[in-house]
Amino acid sequence: MEVLNPASAGVAMSKDAPTKPQHHTGFDRLCRYAEFLNFGDFHMKFDHATGLRAIIAIHNLKRGPAIGGCRLIHYPSTDEALEDALRLAYMMSFKSAINNLAHGGAKAVLMMPKVIHNREAYLEAFGRFVNELGGRYITAVDSGTSPEDMDIIARQTKFVTCTTGSGNSGDPSPQTAFGVFRAIEAAVKFKLNRDSLNGVRVAIQGVGHVGYYLAKHLHACGAQLTVCDMNQRSLERVVQEFGAKVCEPEAIYDVDADIFAPCALGAVLNIETIKRLKVSIVAGSANNQLAHHQHGVALHERGILYAPDFLINAGGLIHVAVIYDHASEKKAHEQISHIYYTLTTIFEKAQQENRATSDIAEMMALERLK
Ligand code: NAD
Repeated sequence: MEVLNPASAGVAMSKDAPTKPQHHTGFDRLCRYAEFLNFGDFHMKFDHATGLRAIIAIHNLKRGPAIGGCRLIHYPSTDEALEDALRLAYMMSFKSAINNLAHGGAKAVLMMPKVIHNREAYLEAFGRFVNELGGRYITAVDSGTSPEDMDIIARQTKFVTCTTGSGNSGDPSPQTAFGVFRAIEAAVKFKLNRDSLNGVRVAIQGVGHVGYYLAKHLHACGAQLTVCDMNQRSLERVVQEFGAKVCEPEAIYDVDADIFAPCALGAVLNIETIKRLKVSIVAGSANNQLAHHQHGVALHERGILYAPDFLINAGGLIHVAVIYDHASEKKAHEQISHIYYTLTTIFEKAQQENRATSDIAEMMALERLK
C-alpha cells in the first residue's frame, strides 16, 4: 500500500506529485494534487459585498463531520491559498484519525484582502458559506481568527466551535503542550525504561507558545532543559522561570541530551540534522518535522525513537472536537492524555516489525480513513 506522509505532502506538491504536464493550469494541477491526496471535495466562495474570498477543503468524512480551523491570512495567490487548504485539511484527517476522533479533516482558508471594511459582515458571509455545507464542515479558530470572530460566525451557522461561550481562550497551545508532554513520558518509558522525568535532559527548539508550556510541564517533573529561540524575551522567560540553559539556534542539534523537542519550525529533521543528533528520542510539537518521509526511516536506522508529530501535537484539535461534541473539559483532558497509550502501541508495533514509527503511525491513520 502506498503510504502518504502528511509531513511530505508539501514535498509531494513539488517533487513527488503525479505527472504534471506543462499545459496544466494552476487549477488543474491543484485538482490533481487533491486527487493524489484522496480528497473528498473543496469549495470556493466569493462575496462581492464583503470582499470574502474563502476556500473550504474537506478531506475525509468517513469518521464523521470534518473539523478544522479557519485561517485568515494574506496569500500571494489563489493557487497558494488552495494548496495550503488542501495540505492542512489532509493533515487534519490524519490527526483526527490517529487520535480516534469521530471527525474527518478539513480546513478553511480566508484570503485576507488589503482592507476588511466591515469585519462582522465579512465573517457573517463566511458563516453563511459554512452553513451552506450543511454540517459537513465545522469551523474553528486558527491563525488570524479569534473566539470573538467565532461568535460572529455563529450568528449564521451552528457548525462552529471555539466561541467565547465554549470556554476556549483561542490559544490551543496549553493543550498541545500537554499532549507532547504525555508523548515524552511514553517515549521515556519505552526507550529509557524510566517512569520519572526527573533528571531527563531535554533540548527544546523554540520556546514560544507550545515550547513554553512544554518546558513548564517538564520542569515541574525535574527535567533539565536546554533551549534555543530567536526571540530574546521568550528565552529569558524560560531561563528565569525554569532555570533552562540556552544555546545558539544552530547548535540545538548538537546538544548532548536524551530528547530533542522541535517546537518551532517544520522540516527540521533532514539528513544533515539527523546525523548530528546526540539524543535517543525526538518528540516535539512542530508540524511536518520530517523534511521527507524517508527521514522517519533514517531516524529509525540511527536508533532514535521518533514520536510522530501528527499524533502528538493534536492536543488542541482533540480539545476542540471533544468540547464540540458536548463532552466536558475533563473528558478532553483524558483524551489528550491518551496520546501516551496510542504512542506506546505504535512504538511496540514498530519494534516488532522493525519499522519506522512514522510508517506505523501513517498506516494506522490510513486504515482508519478507509
Ligand atoms: P510560536 O510562534 O508561538 O513559537 C515558535 C517559536 O519558535 C518562536 O518563539 C520563534 O521565535 C521560535 N523560532 C523560530 N525559528 C526558530 C529557530 N530557527 N530556532 C529556534 N527557535 C525558533 O508557535 P507555537 O504556537 O508555539 O507552535 C510551535 C510549533 O508547533 C509550530 O510548528 C506549530 O505549527 C506547531 N503546532 C502548534 C500548535 C499550537 O497549539 N500552537 C498545535 C499544533 C502544532
